[in-house]
Amino acid sequence: MSAGTRRLPAVERVTFGQAKGWNCIWCGKLLTTGAVSAGRIDEAGARGLSFEVFACPDCGVRGRS
Ligand SMILES: [Zn+2]
Repeated sequence: MSAGTRRLPAVERVTFGQAKGWNCIWCGKLLTTGAVSAGRIDEAGARGLSFEVFACPDCGVRGRS
């Protein structure tokens, strides 16, 4: 399963660090190098706005669970 097909968490469950791209959207690990885009999450109550979230290589490249 690729990063693109995994369901992203609801915006209410995204931490500040995850929203900023500092932490992996799946496991919460601090991202250093090799982070991959995991997609975009719509902001709550902000129509048409979304932010990009990232995954660490372990979670993002192969979707290892
Ligand atoms: Zn991860």
